[in-house]
Amino acid sequence: RQAVYASLRDVEPFTKCGTRIQVMMNAGLRDDISALAMTGADGVGLFRTEFQFLVSATLPARERQQKLYRDVLDAAGEKPVIFRTVDIGGDKSVPYLASEMARQDENPAMGWRALRLALERDGLMKAQARSLLEAAAGRSLYVMFPMVSEVWEFDAAKKVFDEQLAFLRSKKKMVPEAIHFGAMLEVPALAEVLDLLLPRLSFLSIGTNDLTQFLYAADRGNPALAERYDWLSVAILRFLRRVSQQTVGSGVDVGVCGEMGGRRLEALALLGIGYRRLSITPAAVGPIKELVRKVDLAELTEAMSQWLLKPETNLRQELSAWAQEREI
Ligand code: PEP
Ligand code: MG
Repeated sequence: RQAVYASLRDVEPFTKCGTRIQVMMNAGLRDDISALAMTGADGVGLFRTEFQFLVSATLPARERQQKLYRDVLDAAGEKPVIFRTVDIGGDKSVPYLASEMARQDENPAMGWRALRLALERDGLMKAQARSLLEAAAGRSLYVMFPMVSEVWEFDAAKKVFDEQLAFLRSKKKMVPEAIHFGAMLEVPALAEVLDLLLPRLSFLSIGTNDLTQFLYAADRGNPALAERYDWLSVAILRFLRRVSQQTVGSGVDVGVCGEMGGRRLEALALLGIGYRRLSITPAAVGPIKELVRKVDLAELTEAMSQWLLKPETNLRQELSAWAQEREI
């Protein structure tokens, strides 16, 4: 794997027609960050901060959180890291919230998790906000909120950061030189209020893992439903295309951080409906950068728009034949 990483590290992901695609990687551990240099990814498009919370018997102390975030930023150097605030709860249960979790959850994925939990247990959110702000003192901080379903939730989460920032300033502590806030779009309802949300954001990241299960009402972890859950279905891609079209001209950086972007045909589909930024598993960074170089976006966009007109289209077949003809 190291050899493959190395051979593709310096491939610049320009399409055949000259558009630079951002290829970032997903991470969750301090040690994952070494893959940034190895793969030549443009940054960490999704750092899942909950891993530290999940492996801990107690709520991780602020000092420990801060140390992790600082180590990650140090290891990433000049490259941006988007920290996603905790997405615990649901199926990602933690012992120190066990009693609260017990009162739910027939449907954990749709339950008391992520931002819903963090806004109610705001001590948790405050500690994380403070840790991130301190860790990024003097640098750029990118913060992303998971499972935003309504605009007010984004505002409430950002307010926690604003308050912690004001506190640090009042103590004359060093703070980040710039803070960029973003939301994940993984709850379909949010797409209906995108026009209201976009002016508040500096970036938007689509979590296609959760989004797909909600669009199809099909549990992402249930193997019996795997067939109903094709990322290359007309419905999903039309939904994603509509979101991408709505963001044009908004000045908001838009990308996809779900796992689909790391797969060849899925990545082609995303490029063909307007996405120019993918955050994917590190092992896929090199291969996807190479694939990008063989793509003519105008041609791919036209093909996608034809395929998406037909409800019965088998996009897997179409895309695969298309790619083969072009030796992609
Ligand atoms: C997603 O839902 O697509 C996502 C990137 O987040 P996670 O897989 O951590 O839920
Ligand atoms: Mg998710």
